[in-house]
Amino acid sequence: MTTSPAPVILWFRRDLRLSDNPALNHAAETGAPVIPVYIHDQGPVQDRAGGASLWWLDKSLRALDDSLKARGSRLILRSGDSESELRRLIDQTGAATVFMNRRFEPELFARDADIAHALKDDDIEVRGWNGSLICRPGAVLNGSGLPYKVFTPFLKTLLASAEPPPHTTGPRTLDTPTGLDSETLDDWGLHPSKPDWSTGFDWTPGEAGASEALSRFLAGGLKSYSRDRDFPAAPGCSRLSPHLHFGEIHPWRAIERVRAAADAGKVSQAEADKFVAELGWRDFSAHLLHNFPQITDTAFRPEYDRMPWRDDEAGFEAWCKGRTGYPIVDAGMRQLWTTGWMHNRVRMIVASFLVKDLLIDWRRGEAWFRDTLVDADLASNVQNWQWVAASGADAAPYFRVFNPVTQGTKFDAKGHYVRRWVPEIAALPDKWLHAPWTAPVEVLRDARVRLGHDYPRPILDHGEARDRALEALRTVTASRYDDPEH
Ligand code: FAD
Repeated sequence: MTTSPAPVILWFRRDLRLSDNPALNHAAETGAPVIPVYIHDQGPVQDRAGGASLWWLDKSLRALDDSLKARGSRLILRSGDSESELRRLIDQTGAATVFMNRRFEPELFARDADIAHALKDDDIEVRGWNGSLICRPGAVLNGSGLPYKVFTPFLKTLLASAEPPPHTTGPRTLDTPTGLDSETLDDWGLHPSKPDWSTGFDWTPGEAGASEALSRFLAGGLKSYSRDRDFPAAPGCSRLSPHLHFGEIHPWRAIERVRAAADAGKVSQAEADKFVAELGWRDFSAHLLHNFPQITDTAFRPEYDRMPWRDDEAGFEAWCKGRTGYPIVDAGMRQLWTTGWMHNRVRMIVASFLVKDLLIDWRRGEAWFRDTLVDADLASNVQNWQWVAASGADAAPYFRVFNPVTQGTKFDAKGHYVRRWVPEIAALPDKWLHAPWTAPVEVLRDARVRLGHDYPRPILDHGEARDRALEALRTVTASRYDDPEH
């Protein structure tokens, strides 16, 4: 008599796809029944996912469940403490192994290692792979065997050493035991209600949506990516960030398709390289956070934690609501609130406005982004906020303070972006659109703009705010600024 092998638990994390999924492929190769599970753990060690991310998670899990059903399986949903839920599933099914693609955020990474140790005592094997990054953190080191703190040499080593995994589409069928209890996504209530603030979210979460977004980008934006990616009104970037965050596409898949387009002469090699470099920033962020876990809460360059941050609730609220009186800042913050996403150029402008013009602690901005972005990603968010605040590993120079008027004039010269998100000033001529308070009275009257009524007057004077920021920054940077490691 042959006994069937003990089932494998396939623990889905931020790898919500079937193609190019190492844990799924390894699980299928065992020939054992596979139990796909997603655990919604809201305990002390968790994703820190905000409202917009939960909106996405809801749809992405539904799409994953549909894909699994098409292969004869289904997604088991459990909520609670991850280890307890895994143990409950092991008891119910007799599973002997747990396969997963790892999370590399330090708290989750350490918690998962604890779970693996605890289960090992009961003869349950836990195995993990990298299914989300170009290369596993810890594997890209400089000549002295230390983590890189500067992006360019990191990217060079990353691309020279990392091996693309073979492209796979996942097993055609998956044998999953029937009769296992599962909660439902409706039970979890991840979609907002009372009020439903997501009506402007125009996204297709899930693996198919990720693939469509990439195909759209290959057919459009990639051709002039290095130029157009800076113009928020242009369809110049891929909008892949939430798909990548939730693991609906492997970054290597995006790299290979972009490189194939260059090899086929459809786009220039330089455009493909630029896009791959941006994906490199994603890995750089993840590697930095993995190697320097303290950066979620403290400045990478410790002297920056001496910044004399201001308490300014009114300023913070005006920023969050897109009512600062600076049109490009307000357009960005409204795009974020309405769609769950903001263009990269505008993220830099609004972040600079918060930490430099308003002199408000970057951690408050990071938290707001974490709650409102569909692509909120602890590593990328923290790294980029610290980049803007000048406190990060390979950060912008401290004296770079974005001027919201010149940034608007340069990157939204025709005003398409501002007019879309700040319609109350749409009738202003281009010349005054990015600084309405400088417009002559009759221009404002003709455009039916009453400053202070229809649209706020600027909440601060940028020139004065810049001087204040530079003075504060100079006091903290005196000793260590010019000390790059490489
Ligand atoms: P594309 O230009 O098409 O780039 C392709 C991919 O490369 C992106 O999807 C992303 O995965 C990666 N990438 C591009 N730029 C960066 C970057 N600067 N840092 C890290 N990865 C990058 N990105 C997030 O994914 N999550 C965040 O929480 C996040 N927070 C940010 C906060 C601030 C203050 C700033 C300035 C940037 C932040 N970014 C974050 C980076 C960047 O703005 C987004 O990744 C990008 O706008 C996503 O749009 P896209 O997919 O069209 O990018």
